[in-house]
Amino acid sequence: AAVRDAAAVAVDAALLAGVLMRTGEQPHASDVVNYAPFTLLPSAVPRALFEQAYAVQQDFNLLVDAVSQNKEFLEETLASTIKVDDFTARLFRIYMQVLEEGLAQTVFLGINRSDYMFDCGQDGTAALRQIEINTIAASFGGLASRTADVHRLVLKVLGKTEEASRLLPNNPAKGLALGIAKAWELYGSQRAVVMFLVEDVQRNIFDQRCVENELWNRNIRVVRKRFRDVFEQGSLDASRRLYVDGQEVAVVYYREGYVPQVYNQQNWEARLLLERSRAVKCPDIATQLAGTKKVQQELSRPGTLEKLLPGHPEAVARIRATFAGLYSLDEGEEGDRIAATAIADPDRFVLKPQREGGGNNLYGEELREVLEKIKDSPERTSYILMDKIKPQPALNYLLRAHSPLQVSKCISELGIFGVYVRQGQELVLNQAAGHLLRTKAIEHADGGVAAGVAVLDTPYLV
Ligand code: ADP
Ligand code: MG
Repeated sequence: AAVRDAAAVAVDAALLAGVLMRTGEQPHASDVVNYAPFTLLPSAVPRALFEQAYAVQQDFNLLVDAVSQNKEFLEETLASTIKVDDFTARLFRIYMQVLEEGLAQTVFLGINRSDYMFDCGQDGTAALRQIEINTIAASFGGLASRTADVHRLVLKVLGKTEEASRLLPNNPAKGLALGIAKAWELYGSQRAVVMFLVEDVQRNIFDQRCVENELWNRNIRVVRKRFRDVFEQGSLDASRRLYVDGQEVAVVYYREGYVPQVYNQQNWEARLLLERSRAVKCPDIATQLAGTKKVQQELSRPGTLEKLLPGHPEAVARIRATFAGLYSLDEGEEGDRIAATAIADPDRFVLKPQREGGGNNLYGEELREVLEKIKDSPERTSYILMDKIKPQPALNYLLRAHSPLQVSKCISELGIFGVYVRQGQELVLNQAAGHLLRTKAIEHADGGVAAGVAVLDTPYLV
């Protein structure tokens, strides 16, 4: 009964706080909305691992920025992938084309989210293991800014006032807006706007509005456009300033553009136009490529981090300490060996293609079947293998519209937002900008909140 009461309070609190999503039935309208799914209770997170994740975020910002500026590394790393993966190949072609022409962009803005799980060792101790780093359209910074208030109230309703007071403040929306505002300012045109490049179907619009409204609070104008609008209304002037619908654009913030399905010929042309422009792209195409799974895997090779971040041995050590085992499936002996190992013991691994957004990875029997099929073909190289992280499950209630209230065995994934701004060669801003905890029932191997699997959560540090 206490849980049922608390759940009713929680749902209303989420609606009041603005933890919202548009519905599947009416994904284009804001006149009927629902709460975004979330846990009834905050989840326990080891304090040491939480602090470790925050402490390494500026290092990851540095690393992503370094990779994005290293043409030789990107070329070498992605060479095998772009032979077989058409999407990565097309992104790469734009990257090369823009470099050949010479960059008009001089201010660079990175907003990323580094995601982790807590791997449970044989002796029961947990270790922080990076799942991936998202360098484009990392979402839920807005809704995460409001979730802790809901959990604080729930704990009070359940008589846990002392515990409620220990939940941390968290405002990624503000941190993200700070980065966007800095980039806008350095671009240096009062008239120019920030353009959110958004999807056709915008179910997660409230998450984006949180960041948008922070910019309006700073008197920075925001417009929302789709690729299609850019194709129809976009142009560059002689100095490659970007105009869309008559307005000069200082910053393009992509919340779209990371899955192949959105790119028809027109949208590819729009993307090229944006990349050629002087506008600050968040991210530019090089930084998007820096976030591919293939790059992640190559970063884990001995010696690579040292080459990319010379003179930063401590940052290198902090970064490496978060890596799980990652393996190349490139053609050759190394790839043959790990493919055979994974086929023999698929539960030890995750098979990942070069895709974002959840639901693309392969596990268990399916991993075995697919790898059997492609193990002797070049198609193999469009994937990487990763050690499967095995967190200790905990019980919680996942509150989701139209779903019964029931207890589930759950695991969590912690994301830390990072923001940086570079002007020419000078890094003028480099920060951690808040966190996101997502929790899912253990039945689901894959998938995030937008994919309908995970729900929003708040860390309770232990
Ligand atoms: P995407 O770009 O689709 O988000 P991720 O690498 O983040 O790809 O994987 C999607 C989800 O799959 C993660 O949120 C996590 O739940 C699960 N996952 C990914 N890698 C691992 C791993 N090594 N061990 C366990 N689960 C994983
Ligand atoms: Mg992910």
